[in-house]
Amino acid sequence: MPTTLTYAFSPNYIVSNVNLSDIKLIFRRAFSRWSAVIPVNFTETEDYMFSNIKIGFYSGDHDDGEPFDGVLGVLAHGFSPESGKLHLDAAETWAV
Ligand SMILES: [Zn+2]
Repeated sequence: MPTTLTYAFSPNYIVSNVNLSDIKLIFRRAFSRWSAVIPVNFTETEDYMFSNIKIGFYSGDHDDGEPFDGVLGVLAHGFSPESGKLHLDAAETWAV
């Protein structure tokens, strides 16, 4: 019986140069591929505060003890449950 984890996108910390719908599609595909090889299902939810995985784009020092370094270098980081934060560096030029 697979475990189900929910994920959600921050309503505030997004990037403007890529459509949120495109970002959601990419994450849906990635989680689907991951689910194919591990006993975990990933379900998107609108409930950001209570989702297991919280996805957002952040710049520089964003108060989690892991400041981003600007263009290139560190692109993203994540924190294991129960935090579940998955942060992408907003300074990067993200593209789909
Ligand atoms: Zn962070």
